[in-house]
Amino acid sequence: TVKESGGNGYCFYTNEIKKMNEEKLYIQNSIRKALENNEFTLYYQPIIDISSGNVDAVEALIRWNHPKLGPISPATFIPIAEETNLIQLIGDWVLREVCRQSKEWKKKNMPHIQIAVNISIKQFLQADLVQSISNVLQTYNLDPFCLKLEITESMAMHHMDYVRAQLQSLKELGIQLAIDDFGTGYSSLSYLKKLPVDMIKIDRTFIQDMVKHSYDLSIVRAVIQVAHSLNMKVVAEGVETSEQLKILCSERCDKAQGYYFSKPLLAKELEQLLQNKMKLEGRSQ
Ligand code: C2E
Ligand code: MG
Ligand code: MG
Ligand code: MG
Repeated sequence: TVKESGGNGYCFYTNEIKKMNEEKLYIQNSIRKALENNEFTLYYQPIIDISSGNVDAVEALIRWNHPKLGPISPATFIPIAEETNLIQLIGDWVLREVCRQSKEWKKKNMPHIQIAVNISIKQFLQADLVQSISNVLQTYNLDPFCLKLEITESMAMHHMDYVRAQLQSLKELGIQLAIDDFGTGYSSLSYLKKLPVDMIKIDRTFIQDMVKHSYDLSIVRAVIQVAHSLNMKVVAEGVETSEQLKILCSERCDKAQGYYFSKPLLAKELEQLLQNKMKLEGRSQ
């Protein structure tokens, strides 16, 4: 065993684990404080309808500016929060904040924008998820259609029966559903027909590589065709160049999201973007 081999190897190994655990605990305690002190912010990234060029939805993406460590990526702190019930607290905060924002935009007479929210597996498996979403919508007097929930492909695969039932209840409530990061979860395309979802988001690795590798383009093409035959829309994630957009257009992909159009924006910045666009359209008429 490692222990018997003795010496520094073992010591180094346990120290590394100890350090990792201490860092995790520190982050977990910081998340609790962050919720109390309002350190989280939501940014909104436009999702563009390819044929009209209009922004018809945004994806809410959480940001955390830690008072000591500075900005921490959700790719770092969400998985740490997922190891505890903190993810439920973050998830509740995100849902409430998204509904509050949607209501504010409605009051300001902004054009109707659907907001996509990332839901983590632990949150999704909660028995009272449907009820709590329904409650938040009622609190803000919002139409369920204003929300879209994104769950990742790998998550949908691992808890198939439960996931399907949960998706069905959400759908009955009138909420739109999307499968996120599609293509990374090693499920077969035939899997899709079992899921009552409105939309598939193709993972950005395929969008990046399809320009150079025909293999990736074939995958993108196949996903679009299967999704369309199942009456689902397709979003391309991580679109960064006009060349990528051109390919997506000729493959009849429905929607696109990525730095080519816009990075994730503060609510105020998004409002400005949408208002400027409305003015441009007004002038051209
Ligand atoms: P995701 O849901 O797949 O979100 C898309 C990620 O791609 C975002 O990273 C976004 O900023 C980034 N992105 C968008 N366009 C481009 C592009 O053109 N190029 C590149 N390279 N990247 C692009 P972000 O915001 O760092 O979020 C990472 C992940 O963290 C998300 O992946 C999602 O899984 C998770 N996440 C973010 N916000 C939340 C949240 O509120 N709740 C939960 N449960 N998870 C969240
Ligand atoms: Mg997402
Ligand atoms: Mg994604
Ligand atoms: Mg992702």
